[in-house]
Amino acid sequence: MDIGGLETVVANSAYVSARGSTDAGAASVSRDRKMRARLQLPHITRCEHLRGRPDLDFPTVCLRQPIGKRLFQQFLEEQETFAPAGGLWKSVEAYAAAEESDRPRAAQETVNRFFDSAAETFCAFLEEAAVARVKEDARHGRADLFQEAEGQLLRHLEARAWPGFKETLFFSRSLQFKWLEGQSVSEEWFLDFRVLGKGGFGEVCACQMRATGKMYANKKLNKKRLKKRNGYEAAIVEKRILAKVHSRFIVTLAYAFQTKLDLCLVMTLMNGGDLRYHVYNVDEKNPGFPEPRAVFYTAQIICGLEHLHQNRIIYRDLKPENVLLDDAGHVRLSDLGLAVELPEGKDKTKGYAGTPGFMAPELLKNEEYDWSVDYFTLGVTLYEMIEAKGPFRCRGEKNKEVTRRILHDPVKYSEKFSAACRAACEGLMAKDPAGRLGFRDNQCAQLKGHPLFQKVNWGRLEAGLVEPPFVPDPKTVYAKDISEVGAFSTVKGVVLDEQDRAFYDDFSSGNIPIPWQEEMVETGVFGELNVVSSKSGTCFLL
Ligand code: ADP
Ligand code: MG
Ligand code: MG
Repeated sequence: MDIGGLETVVANSAYVSARGSTDAGAASVSRDRKMRARLQLPHITRCEHLRGRPDLDFPTVCLRQPIGKRLFQQFLEEQETFAPAGGLWKSVEAYAAAEESDRPRAAQETVNRFFDSAAETFCAFLEEAAVARVKEDARHGRADLFQEAEGQLLRHLEARAWPGFKETLFFSRSLQFKWLEGQSVSEEWFLDFRVLGKGGFGEVCACQMRATGKMYANKKLNKKRLKKRNGYEAAIVEKRILAKVHSRFIVTLAYAFQTKLDLCLVMTLMNGGDLRYHVYNVDEKNPGFPEPRAVFYTAQIICGLEHLHQNRIIYRDLKPENVLLDDAGHVRLSDLGLAVELPEGKDKTKGYAGTPGFMAPELLKNEEYDWSVDYFTLGVTLYEMIEAKGPFRCRGEKNKEVTRRILHDPVKYSEKFSAACRAACEGLMAKDPAGRLGFRDNQCAQLKGHPLFQKVNWGRLEAGLVEPPFVPDPKTVYAKDISEVGAFSTVKGVVLDEQDRAFYDDFSSGNIPIPWQEEMVETGVFGELNVVSSKSGTCFLL
């Protein structure tokens, strides 16, 4: 074995073992105690200034942010007046994630406990008409059975429980966590493991948050290389968009910070490799996926696209290489460096962006375009997963020929495609965006209803409850050998000035609230910190 090979083996084994220690949810085992000790809640008097912060409203604190929501739900449980509402809330959330076959039973139980005026935990704040409708429909077990009631529940909680909650220790505790969340982070909080891949501006490494033990991917953008290649705008767009979206089908940004040399984006670690690697390299003699596997990934990609489009973001760079697998075999979209956000009131954009062989006709013709370009790239991606070859690209061909084919030639389908799969590809790769399958009325309902997805339970898929058709081997590193990743040359002749530093400070905004709170909960740090001392020793506040 040469030195490069040995280096890879050593790096892989350190990485696989760190990964293993966190996979079982035992992140605390591999924590750095000294760093963990630095995560301490401040005295409550130091958080008073946060109390009136305008962004800390009911939906943010109690619905979107995991720590605030937990504390709020614990408050509801403790209060006799709100306990039924708290119970109903948990019950409808569990219903949404239930198996279809379980729903009628779960629905009836919820109705008995909260919708029946004779029940001890009857929710009298629900409107009579809504109660009657739920009772009437309960036996159907429809996915949206409790939607209307949940709306009334949340309005009730905002009007009645939220004001009182703000006077309690529970809310003070949420402010203490908010303070901790607002502390700056720097490279000393992270331990780097092996290189996972190479980007345009730097390496992507596996890393571990030392205080909690959680594993992440750290995408580094070299400051000088960014400046030399005019990459600032793309870097800040990628950071802003990643911080804005929260979907289990898109990589999540947890931290943004800087070192002397790099800007760093710390994101969800995707251990399972990218779809391109799985299509072509895992079984070279038999490339491509059986249809059910391709359909599963396509369905998850649709959920990711739908979330982006609901947030007015066009992705523009969907391709197998940018779709990454996690430990369990679920996929997420990554690399949002080419994405663009449409401002409110503007529904189209212009500009040449994407990867040859994937770009939609309207984009290639330099016309204005919208989300529809992402459904064209989805069609190309689905085709490639089945055929293990792009629909428009032949080896060694010039981009001009590829472009001509995208604009004018019909796609050829082999016997690998079922009728439904071929129809879906044709619908997605329609040359005219007006007739293309995609995103309408703020959702992908028509596309999700296509026969190709007949067997997909979208509710369970969206809740992450559908078992993936393929689970990556936990001992394999689905990345190139370190020696193959290749090194970067040093950047010469670039001097950084005050203006550059101002940009870096703006980029390095630190912890991203929702992922940070998720990490605290998931790794048990929230539970460890959420105690109060009392005269009789230490007791749980809650
Ligand atoms: P660039 O925008 O410069 O192309 P990418 O975001 O595509 O950079 O990252 C480069 C490579 O790093 C990817 O092709 C992939 O191999 C690896 N990578 C990126 N993000 C992750 C992640 N979250 N988890 C694991 N590997 C990743
Ligand atoms: Mg990339
Ligand atoms: Mg990129």
